[in-house]
Amino acid sequence: MPNAPPTEADAERYRRAKAIAFALLDVDARERDAALAAACGGDAALADEVRWLVAAGEDASADALPPLGDLARLAAPLPRDYRVIRRIGDGGMGVVYLAERVDGDLRQRVALKLLRASAPDDADAHRRFASERRILSALAHPNIARLVDGGVTEHGLPFLAMEYVEGEPIDAWCARHAPSLRARVALVVKVCAAVDYAHGQLVIHRDIKPSNVLVGADGEPKLLDFGIARLVDGDADAARTRTDRRLLTPAYASPEQIDGARLTRASDVWSLGVVLYELVAGVRPFAHLETTHLLPGAIVSGEVPPPSRRAKTARVPRRVPADVDAIVMKALRREPAQRYASAAELADDLRRFLAARPVRARRGHVAYRVQRLVARRRWWFAAALALGAGIGAVVVDRVAQHERVALERDRAQAVVGFLDELFENTDALHRRGDDVTVRQMLDLGAANLAANAGVAPAQRAPLQFAIGRAYNALGRHDDAAPLLERARDALAAADAPPAQIAPVELALAAAYSGSRRLGDAVAADERALAQLARMPAPADDDVDQARIRVLHNRAVLLSRPLAQVRTELDAIDASLAARRAPAALKIAALRARTMACGADAACALAAAERALSLARGAYAADDPRVLPVRYAYVSALQEREPERAAELLPALVADYERRYGDSAIFASLLANHAGTLVRIGRAREAAGLFERAVAMTRATSGEDSDLYRWAVANRASAVLALGDPALAIALVESVLPGLVESAQAGGSSEAQVFAASARDTLADAALARGDAARAERELAAAAQGLAQVDADAYPAMHAQALAKLADVQIRRGRIDDARDTLARLDAALAGREGAAFDAPRAQAQALRVRVGEARDRQAAAPAR
Ligand code: ADP
Ligand code: MG
Repeated sequence: MPNAPPTEADAERYRRAKAIAFALLDVDARERDAALAAACGGDAALADEVRWLVAAGEDASADALPPLGDLARLAAPLPRDYRVIRRIGDGGMGVVYLAERVDGDLRQRVALKLLRASAPDDADAHRRFASERRILSALAHPNIARLVDGGVTEHGLPFLAMEYVEGEPIDAWCARHAPSLRARVALVVKVCAAVDYAHGQLVIHRDIKPSNVLVGADGEPKLLDFGIARLVDGDADAARTRTDRRLLTPAYASPEQIDGARLTRASDVWSLGVVLYELVAGVRPFAHLETTHLLPGAIVSGEVPPPSRRAKTARVPRRVPADVDAIVMKALRREPAQRYASAAELADDLRRFLAARPVRARRGHVAYRVQRLVARRRWWFAAALALGAGIGAVVVDRVAQHERVALERDRAQAVVGFLDELFENTDALHRRGDDVTVRQMLDLGAANLAANAGVAPAQRAPLQFAIGRAYNALGRHDDAAPLLERARDALAAADAPPAQIAPVELALAAAYSGSRRLGDAVAADERALAQLARMPAPADDDVDQARIRVLHNRAVLLSRPLAQVRTELDAIDASLAARRAPAALKIAALRARTMACGADAACALAAAERALSLARGAYAADDPRVLPVRYAYVSALQEREPERAAELLPALVADYERRYGDSAIFASLLANHAGTLVRIGRAREAAGLFERAVAMTRATSGEDSDLYRWAVANRASAVLALGDPALAIALVESVLPGLVESAQAGGSSEAQVFAASARDTLADAALARGDAARAERELAAAAQGLAQVDADAYPAMHAQALAKLADVQIRRGRIDDARDTLARLDAALAGREGAAFDAPRAQAQALRVRVGEARDRQAAAPAR
C-alpha cells in the first residue's frame, strides 16, 4: 500500500529515522553500521528505515536523479530522503515535483515544493517558504493539502513536502467531467469549508484561484498554496496583511487587494466568488478585459455582470439560476462589508440553494421566498410560477413602490406566513402518508381563507389572488373565478390603485375564458384594459394579452364583426412582431385569428397550423399550453375534414381529461368531439359522450349557463339520429327558452347561433313526427335569428336554414312564403364561394323549380 497514510507511530519513527539518517550521512561509510546500531538501540524497524534513508539520500544526490532537463538545472540538490518522480507544477516562487518519500518499506508519494532555482538567495522567498510551512503546519482539514514534511535541505534551501493530490485544477476538472451545476456548487461549498477553516485558524489565503484548488480522483477538492497567506492578527504590522502586488493573480484579486488596502477574510470571499462565477458561467467576470491593464481598474470600479448574463456567451451555454446569480453577486460586492461576512456564510447560502431553501442573498424579496417555499415541495411545482408571479404582482410591486411603508411590508409577510402555514399543514398530511396533490393543497388554502382562519381583511385579496392564479395555472378555471371575483371586489371597494386591480382582472378574464364564460371574460378584459390605461407605464404584454383575448372571445361570441376583428388582429400582429413579443402572445393572436376567419375554413386552418407549429417550437410536447392550440386546430379541421378531426380528437380528449379533469373546458371539448361524430354518422358513440358532457357542464357551469344548454341541445341531435324524436324535442324544449333569453339579452350572438341550431334540431324532430307546421315555425325563427348574426360568421348555416324553410313551406303549399324565402336565400348566397355553399346553392336551384311547378299547379287549379 504505497499510498497509505502513515500512522502516528510511522510518522514518529520516520522523524527519528530521518534525524539519525542525516547524522549518519556525515559519518564515514565504514563506521556507519556501528553508529547506526548505537543510534537505534534494539529497534530493528527503525534501523531498517534509517538504512533505507541513507541509501536513498546517497542516491538522490548522485545517480538517482530523474532524467529531466529542468531537474538537472536545479541549483540545489533535493532533500536527502526524497526521490523525484517528475515535475508537476510551477508557481510564483517554487517548483513542485511529484516525489517519493522513502520511508522504510513505505514509499509515500508527496508533492515536493522547492525554491525556484533562479532565486536561491531571495530573502523574501525564503521568508515566504518559512511562512507557508509555519501556516500549513497549523492546518489540518480534509480539503486542504496536508503538510507532510518541511524544512531546509542541508544546503540551506527551504522545502515543503505536502500530501500529493493526484488530480487537476478545479476548472480543468469541471471542463473534463462536465458535472451538473449543482455538483459544481457542491464542490465550491467544500472549498469554502476549507477556507473558512483556515480563517478560523486566523489564516487568510489571499490567492484562491482554480490552479490552487485541485480536485482529486475521488472528486474531493483540496486547497493548496498558502505561499502568500497571512495570519490575520498574527502581525501587528498592517502592511504585512497587504499583498505584494507583484504576487497577485489579478483575475481573482479583490478590489481591496488591487488597491493595496488592508485585507480581511472578505478578500478570500471575493476570490471564492470569482471561482464560483467561473465554474457556473464558464467565463471569469472580467474575462473580456484580462489581457490588458484594464482589468485592475474594472475590478476596483466596474460593475460585475451577473453570471447568468455571461453564461449565454460562454462556450458551454448553461442556465444560471437566479439564486446562484444573487449569491455570486453578493460575494462580489465591491465593498468588503457588503459581501458575505465569511466563507462559511457563503457556503451556507450555497447549501440553501442546493436544498431549495431561500438564499440570504435574496432575502427580503417576498415573491422570491414564496417561490423557494414552493420549490422545496416539488409536488407543488406546477403552481410555483403562478404563485410567485401572483404574489409578486400584487404584493411585491407595492412593497417596491412604498418600500418604507410598514403596513405593506406586514401584508407581504402575512402572505408568506399564510402560505408557510399551509405548507406546514400539508406536510403533516404528507407525513401521514397521504398523497397530497397541488389541488388538495389549493383547496385547503381556499377553505382556510373562506373560514377566515387568521387572515386580516387587508390580506385576503392578495391571498385570493394568489390562489386564484394558481388554480388558473392548474387549469382549474372554474375554481379560480369565484376567488378572483372576491379579490377584485375587495380591491375595488378599497379603492386600490390600478396596478393592483389590473392583474386581478386579467386573471379573472383568463378564468372566465377557461370556464367558457366568454361574455364575462370580455367584460373582465375590458375592465383590465381600463385599469391598465390608468397606469403610467403598463406592460405591453399585459395590454396585448387582454386585447387579443377580447378579440378571440368576441370572434367566438360574434359580438363584433369578424372583418373588424381581423383588422384589429393585423394591428396587434404588427406590434407583436415589432417588439419581439413572447411566443405565448403570438400563439394567442393566431388562435384568435382562427376564430376570426369565420366561415373561411382555409383561413382558419392556415392560422391554426401556424399556431400549432409555433407552440410546438416554443413548448415541450406535453406542455399544457399546447392543448388549447390543438383544440383550435381540430376545430378548424371540423368543417372541411370531420373524419380527420375525429381521428385526432380521442388523444386530445385524453390529454384534456388528464390536465383539466371535470371542468367546463373539458366538457366543451367532449361535446365538440361528440358533435363531430354525429356529423360523420357515428351517433351512437356520440350519445354517450354527450351525456357525459351534459352532466359535466351541469356540475361545473350550472344549468343556467349557455354552455350547459348548448350541450343539451347537441345531445338532442344525437338522440334524434338514434331515432327518438320525442326525447329530442323534450331535451331541446328544456333549454331553448334559456338560449332565446340569452340571445335577446344581447351582447353576444353566440346564444343566437346556439338557439338556431337547437331550433334546427327541433324542426327535424317535428318533421320526423309529421308536424310540418312546427318545423316551419322553428326554421323561420332560426333563420331570423341567424340573419341578425354577422354575415361573415355562419353564412352557410343561414343559407341552409333558409333552404330547409323553403322546402317545408313548399311542402305545406305556402308558395308565396316559399318564394320570399328563396329570395332571401339568393341574397344570402350572393357572392359566396366554397364547398359549404354548394349544397344550399343546389338546393336553391331545385327549390326554384319546385316553386315554379307549384305555381303552375296553383294557376291551373281555379280553371279546373
Ligand atoms: P506556488 O506558490 O509557486 O504557486 P503552488 O503551491 O501553487 O506553488 O504549486 C504550484 C502547482 O504545483 C500547483 O498549481 C499544482 O499544479 C502543483 N501542486 C502543488 N501542490 C500540489 C499537491 N499537493 N499535489 C499535487 N500537485 C500540487
Ligand atoms: Mg499556486
